[in-house]
Amino acid sequence: PSYLSNVPEGPPDAILGIAEAFKSCTDERKVNVCVGAYRDSTGKPWILPSVRKAEERLLVDPTVNKEYAPIAGDAKYVDLALGFAYGTDADMTKLAGVQTLSGTGACRVGGHFLSKFVPKPEGMDKVPIYIPNPTWGNHIAIFNNCGMDVRRYRYYNSKTNRLDYDGLIEDLKEAPEGSVILLHACAHNPTGCDPTMEQWKDISDLIKSKKHHCFFDSAYQGFASGDAEADASALRLFVSEGHNVVLAQSFAKNFGLYGERTGTLSVVCNSLEERSAVMSQLKLIIRPMYSSPPIHGSSIVKTVLTDEELTAEYYDNCKEMATRINAMRVKLVEVLKEVGSEHDWSHVTEQIGMFAYTGMNSDMCDELTSKYSIFLTRDGRISLAGLNDGNIEYVAKAVHDVTA
Ligand code: PLP
Repeated sequence: PSYLSNVPEGPPDAILGIAEAFKSCTDERKVNVCVGAYRDSTGKPWILPSVRKAEERLLVDPTVNKEYAPIAGDAKYVDLALGFAYGTDADMTKLAGVQTLSGTGACRVGGHFLSKFVPKPEGMDKVPIYIPNPTWGNHIAIFNNCGMDVRRYRYYNSKTNRLDYDGLIEDLKEAPEGSVILLHACAHNPTGCDPTMEQWKDISDLIKSKKHHCFFDSAYQGFASGDAEADASALRLFVSEGHNVVLAQSFAKNFGLYGERTGTLSVVCNSLEERSAVMSQLKLIIRPMYSSPPIHGSSIVKTVLTDEELTAEYYDNCKEMATRINAMRVKLVEVLKEVGSEHDWSHVTEQIGMFAYTGMNSDMCDELTSKYSIFLTRDGRISLAGLNDGNIEYVAKAVHDVTA
């Protein structure tokens, strides 16, 4: 027998495993509220009209070809993407930015960079990174695989169903000086709870006083308020406060470019020299990993963001998604009440972004799946994008049944 006979079967990915189970389910009533991807009011994936138009232009553009992108990606795209995040008035001469394989790839490149260059706190053999509890499940594996010491800070109080602000502050205070702190830029996944701007300012002060390093993960810019500019407020505050922010940016959700793997990783430097050194190191990380990024998604973002009309249309498209999702959030709670639920669901309407973090426990989630063929993660998170007028009553009744 070859060594392959000793390869053990690994566990399936929690979220992608549920997607598989949904696909193979034959119940006509089935609903997928697991996946973090936008669906239109008929339950179908949506290509943003501004994105479609950009693709049509690219198709007939004689200057377009399929050559390799540079290691750091398309520099023009990177500049536009960073303008989208940091503001078009940001000091580009201090931003080291590379194109990445969406947000996951950005976290991976950023984690690798931090692991290599952040000084390890005394007595530690790895760089500690504090990620919120709960967070996007993949963060744990990503930063472990980058050779970092993954630790948690309190983020959510399941008794109040709100942000555990005191717990967060206490844990960031306790963290060894010079730790990396991962922050969700907006629309925290899975809780939908973000700090207020006053709280962000205090978090910024604390991080500064503890000489921590901040790593922003921005996967939902535009999904929190419907306005991508407004959703960048926390990030921009931290930059204005002088932090050497590291930013992982994804265009999967807000441009609907999930499968195109379009993102950036950037580092706010203090000088042109630093920027040049950081760029050189990021390229050294990327080259042996995948050489260079794919070009289709970045060409789309570049085309949209270089054209005023397409940009305006894009902002409308993004708002349309956020508005529909928010309408589903409000309606879910309305219908829950209509069908007789006496629970306090106000946390769901207070939350923002793509998800409702309902507070249902894993048994309730399992019952939703076994009895009603409603597929969701076992933490009680419902992707509001999966709801529409055709299924919301069914889902609300089922949620009422398992929580009554
Ligand atoms: N970060 C967070 C918080 C996310 O929720 C996601 C996707 O769900 C990502 C990053 C990365 O997604 P992608 O690699 O598709 O851009």
